[in-house]
Amino acid sequence: MQIILQPVLFQLGERFTSTLVKVLSKEFNSSVSSASLITEIPVQLFDKQRNQWKSNEILQWLLDKRRPNRATTKILAICDFDAYSNHLNFVFGEAYLDGSISAIYLSRLRQEFYVLKADEYLFYQRIVKEAVHELGHAFGMNHCRNTSCVMHFSNSLSDTDIKESQFCNVCKGIIGNLHPWQQ
Ligand SMILES: [Zn+2]
Ligand SMILES: [Zn+2]
Repeated sequence: MQIILQPVLFQLGERFTSTLVKVLSKEFNSSVSSASLITEIPVQLFDKQRNQWKSNEILQWLLDKRRPNRATTKILAICDFDAYSNHLNFVFGEAYLDGSISAIYLSRLRQEFYVLKADEYLFYQRIVKEAVHELGHAFGMNHCRNTSCVMHFSNSLSDTDIKESQFCNVCKGIIGNLHPWQQ
């Protein structure tokens, strides 16, 4: 499988991109590359009343725009804005389960969003965790009950901060069976 990082309205720095590439290629045993920045999104995908983007529609738009090969490719959009989905007030990310499109939304991963002092290290750690989590869904993984597993559901940032950026042993076994890459 190949993973493509798709920056949207935000360019991750080179150093952090290489960290992310390293983590993702190890966790998913896949090759990871970066697509060129998307600088514009159709305004219809924005909810003016809520002042948030519509995550469902962002995923659908990316799918239509990129048309990735489902058998070989997973796209992770890295979006520097806030989004919501269905009944959820906001989402840190969303993915089509066992599909080829996933996205993470960075606004709420920054300390500044909560009027706290900026912390770049924490911000990047959160991005890595959310990236592995959403790609996990794209690779067919469901949520895990283990609070330190990356597939644990994050209802709030403290859930994200508690968990690790890796799959627990149970999830490692599951993803290994879904995608038997040792052949
Ligand atoms: Zn999830
Ligand atoms: Zn797990």
